[in-house]
Amino acid sequence: MYDKSISLFQRAQQSIPGGVNSPVRAFKSVGGTPIFIEKAKGAYLYDADGNRFIDYIASWGPMILGHAYEPVVKAIQEKAVLSTSYGAPTQLEIEMAELIKSMAPNVDLIRMVSSGTEACMSALRLARGYTGRNKFIKFEGCYHGHADAFLVKAGSGLATFDIQTVPGITGGVSNDTLTCAYNDLEAVRSLVSTHKNEIAAIIIEPVAGNMGCILPQPGFLEGLRQICNEEGIVFIFDEVMTGFRLAAGGAQEVLKIDADLITYGKVIGAGMPVGAFGGKRAIMEKIAPLGNVYQAGTLSGNPIAMIAGYTLLHELKNNPSIYQELNDKTAYLHDGLNKVLAASGTAFVINRQGSMISIHFSEQPVTDFASAAAANNSLFNKYFHAMLKRGIYLPPSAYESWFLNNALSYADLDATIQATAESLAEIL
Ligand SMILES: *Cc1c(COP(=O)(O)O)cnc(C)c1O
Repeated sequence: MYDKSISLFQRAQQSIPGGVNSPVRAFKSVGGTPIFIEKAKGAYLYDADGNRFIDYIASWGPMILGHAYEPVVKAIQEKAVLSTSYGAPTQLEIEMAELIKSMAPNVDLIRMVSSGTEACMSALRLARGYTGRNKFIKFEGCYHGHADAFLVKAGSGLATFDIQTVPGITGGVSNDTLTCAYNDLEAVRSLVSTHKNEIAAIIIEPVAGNMGCILPQPGFLEGLRQICNEEGIVFIFDEVMTGFRLAAGGAQEVLKIDADLITYGKVIGAGMPVGAFGGKRAIMEKIAPLGNVYQAGTLSGNPIAMIAGYTLLHELKNNPSIYQELNDKTAYLHDGLNKVLAASGTAFVINRQGSMISIHFSEQPVTDFASAAAANNSLFNKYFHAMLKRGIYLPPSAYESWFLNNALSYADLDATIQATAESLAEIL
């Protein structure tokens, strides 16, 4: 069934570390061989052996309207013949910035980069440059890309592979990274009072997606907002996952909280390498060439990447019913999974916000990294393989959110619920 993937994986390991260009793809925690993809259309992935899978990763979020979405493909094709890069400004970059500002109204200025990592790294540097302070607070299990400062209790692939400390990151760097449990406002208060006037920023995934899907409890983000106001701390929403996914205006719109700086990635590029950071004018004006916080990129604002992202965002902005449809589909899946999981008698928790959802095989509520880690993640690994065998492609780790795309049909969702019932019968 996976003959070609198996031989491709063997070949890949001769020339690529671990056979993959990003660790979670290696299936290392769930075991088995990663599936090598040949093409995708709508809600379906097709692998090298010709197997078809219903896709719940959506390239980790970007393919929110499904794969090979025709307006995006066409826009890229038309743009590519005009050259793939100029290294000089274009009108399209202005249109992209204006479009994002119209979707996230508290973004005064926005700078494009080429990944979520770059966006978060640059936002942190900017917050430090703006405040003149070095330390910042992040939350255990939140992932903000692989820049040095963030690789402390960083969820996602690090949690999947149980990497506690990352060799190559100096003590000087990690000493300035302070961490608290997600949803623990008191811990933040106490860190802030211990490090009075030393903290440049609090960065958070407003809905966490890198330890499974974990929701902010009522009052948590409001409390952080207030602490930042009182202490002159820059509040950074990492909306790399949630931006343009939970709503046109992202988590800020849904949760009704304004951050000072916001980082974007994933959906913003429609599958091309794009990230961005933006926010309050007074802070963003510190970025070069206006200010002296340096940040740059040879391929930033790349025309192919911009036309792909612009086309997708334009569609999302002008068809707000997309979010209602995605929400309804995810609620339907949630409900169906709930029923079959309850019938199986196994302990489980399903967390969901909009089109982000995940299952934890846990007896207690999953509200932070510790409770996510305490779940029966070896059962998740069995579930993953049982689902894969039935043509359902879930994220290969309990520490990842699932992302729905709007090309999924109700028949696909029914097939997923049915496959879950069968998988549970097989593995329990
Ligand atoms: C994926 C992700 C990043 C990193 O983005 P890359 O494009 O992979 O560098 C940062 N923050 C969050 C919340 C993410 O999910």
